[in-house]
Amino acid sequence: MTTQDLTVDLETSDLIRDSGAETFTLCFQCAVCSASCPWNRVSHFDPRRMLHQARLGVADLEDEAWWMCATCRSCVARCPMQVDVIAIMRAVRRLVVGYGAGRFPDSIRVSLKNVAGVGNPAGESPDKREDWTKKAKKVESFSTDAEVLYFSCCVPAYDAKARRMAVSLSNILEAVGIKFGILGNREKCCGESVRKCGNEELFQTLAQSNIDAFKEAGAKTVLVSSPHCYHTFKNEYPELGAEFQVVHYTQYLAQLIRDGKLKLTKPIDKKVTYHDPCYLGRHNSVYDEPRDVLKSIPGLELVELPNCREDSICCGAGGGRVWAETKKGERFSDLRVNQAIDVGAEILTVACPYCMLMFDDSVLTMGKEEVLQIKDISELVLEAME
Ligand code: SF4
Ligand code: SF4
Repeated sequence: MTTQDLTVDLETSDLIRDSGAETFTLCFQCAVCSASCPWNRVSHFDPRRMLHQARLGVADLEDEAWWMCATCRSCVARCPMQVDVIAIMRAVRRLVVGYGAGRFPDSIRVSLKNVAGVGNPAGESPDKREDWTKKAKKVESFSTDAEVLYFSCCVPAYDAKARRMAVSLSNILEAVGIKFGILGNREKCCGESVRKCGNEELFQTLAQSNIDAFKEAGAKTVLVSSPHCYHTFKNEYPELGAEFQVVHYTQYLAQLIRDGKLKLTKPIDKKVTYHDPCYLGRHNSVYDEPRDVLKSIPGLELVELPNCREDSICCGAGGGRVWAETKKGERFSDLRVNQAIDVGAEILTVACPYCMLMFDDSVLTMGKEEVLQIKDISELVLEAME
């Protein structure tokens, strides 16, 4: 290596560190992260080696392996040195996206372009954002006398199958008599995955636009379907001036049940298992409320997956992977579907639109639709009310 190469390497190392990878200096290369990574259940991925390369400034920015991390936090939770592996992956992605210094998957490029252009990754018109409400009983525009502002997330808003999450939740709220409202085309993608993909500038623009829209509307509490929206609203928007409370819908339903406002009386005599989404569980320690809701349904038998709560296996969609192609045979969601079938579950319940997309796809491609149903918790709750 020449002196000039070394200078370039140190500059790259400094750039990566200054993009949010400060903790890479703590790493002592024990490889606990690599052993914890779900990729190594289906193929090969070595975050330990990648962190080392990032620290030395010799990260190959043309290598699309930097885009494999699903930001599931399994490694971060286990690292003995509290190295923020996700922040390091994101820092390298920032160099690629922000400086145009490498290569990244075309499907992610298209989704980011769509978010920048029309405010959602699907590339759909903002005016279609509230089309899902046509399937619901009654959804109004938000006004300040409403208890909560419901933020559906782009996936239920635009995906024909995942739409059922928003529809069933709003039907529950309507049946219980909760006054709620939506912002429709005034809301944009929350930006959580955008930020994990390294497009910090676009994230800041989206966040500011949503914060302004919530403020102008006078929203004090925002109710969300997605743990990804939950995570960024709760942990990232406040430093940009957000002052609203955020509640995940499973927390909200659990509270309604505790208060006696939501009564579940119709039995569902099924064996049901629950998949902890990374961004509700490991990222935000919400484990009990989704289970409390399920346990309140008469007749329902809740069985746990072998990897549950802190030990949950990612569905594979975090960190922008929801927009990436994942080869057949390498999908974490297939592992989860097999685990659910192995514990004898008839229904695999989810509490995240990304998980819903991944599991819906897995049961279809694995030919398991007759054996295992994928349902959002809100769908089960609605069934138990009727
Ligand atoms: S677990 Fe932590 S200390 Fe060990 S190699 Fe991974 S990042 Fe480094
Ligand atoms: S965050 Fe998850 S997917 Fe990313 S390196 Fe760590 S264990 Fe692997």
